[in-house]
Amino acid sequence: MREYAFLDLAAVTAPLAEELKEAAVRVIDSGRYLRGEECEAFERELAALCGAKYCVAVSNGLDALRLIFRAYMELGRISRGDEVIVASNTYIASTLSITDTGLKAVAVEPEEETFNIDPKKIEEAITPATRAILEVHLYGTPCRHAEIQEIADRHGLLVIEDNAQGIGGMIGNRMTGNLGDAAAFSFYPTKNIGALGDAGAVTTSDCELAKAIRAIANYGSDRRYHNVYQGLNCRMDELQAAFLRVKLRHIEEETKRRNRVAEVYYKNIDNGKIIKPEFIGGMTQVWHQYVVRCEDRDGFRKYLADNGVQTDVHYAVPPHKQPCYVGVFHGCYPITERLADEVVSLPIAGISTDDAMEISNIINNY
Ligand SMILES: *Cc1c(COP(=O)(O)O)cnc(C)c1O
Repeated sequence: MREYAFLDLAAVTAPLAEELKEAAVRVIDSGRYLRGEECEAFERELAALCGAKYCVAVSNGLDALRLIFRAYMELGRISRGDEVIVASNTYIASTLSITDTGLKAVAVEPEEETFNIDPKKIEEAITPATRAILEVHLYGTPCRHAEIQEIADRHGLLVIEDNAQGIGGMIGNRMTGNLGDAAAFSFYPTKNIGALGDAGAVTTSDCELAKAIRAIANYGSDRRYHNVYQGLNCRMDELQAAFLRVKLRHIEEETKRRNRVAEVYYKNIDNGKIIKPEFIGGMTQVWHQYVVRCEDRDGFRKYLADNGVQTDVHYAVPPHKQPCYVGVFHGCYPITERLADEVVSLPIAGISTDDAMEISNIINNY
């Protein structure tokens, strides 16, 4: 029986191995391991990709989000205890970035069609303390940004993108990472553009914000031994930047490859017990995950495993049900809880369209 791994990172990395090794040698020989040319070049290249004016390379995705909130606080745009609206079904890191900065996370349910925050439910969650909407492009599907931005403009709110799963996505011809006021990226190894370790970035076209984030991420100093903020150490290292520059050169291929696999699944999976994710018009989805739904999720996963198909679940326990958030969220989140019980992620990265065809056939026999 053929085995289909959920995600074989070595196989994903293999085609780029020579380029990555050259990049590593270049950094090793340079003698410069932090705050050097690789990070500078990576920042220019990611900003250009998104169409944003500025990019700050940082340590990871959670830090990228935390730095955005912290910088807005230092600039007086947000204060301790203010509220940030976020999807209730997101990965917990989105929520952690809000609560770690001393802000209140207000969870809003997703729409089932896109798995993203439901713009129609945002307005009823807005209070006089609301300062921002954190739009998470979950599974690589861009949020309905125009509707979210319109609400934000009407209420004077910031729009921050959690683009950890959405890099390369577009609405019309506008890239994620350049839709709102600032955006956070993660380059965790399993993301569409993955480092060989931890890395992240912030993009924005707000000069003051970019300056504050750059300073806070480097002990709060705007120049050597001059600390304007009580800062942190959240820098990306040169080695990861050099690896990411290689990966970024191949982003279009990666997005197209994922789209081809997603199309094969979409056209060929045909089983009344399985709900497939939608291709949404007017946008480019980057298929960080290909997430189907099944009422008997555990039975379905066991059947697939017995037939050689490894799957994963993103995410089985939503933030409001995590032990760390007991007593923090007071709403009811029935859609989120149903999704958490039904979602199954199929292999999407590092597999061929023929593999996707085979996996579709296996699913159709369930
Ligand atoms: C991965 C991820 C993060 C956190 O990124 P790290 O680099 O792992 O810190 C934040 N938000 C979302 C939606 C993610 O998927």
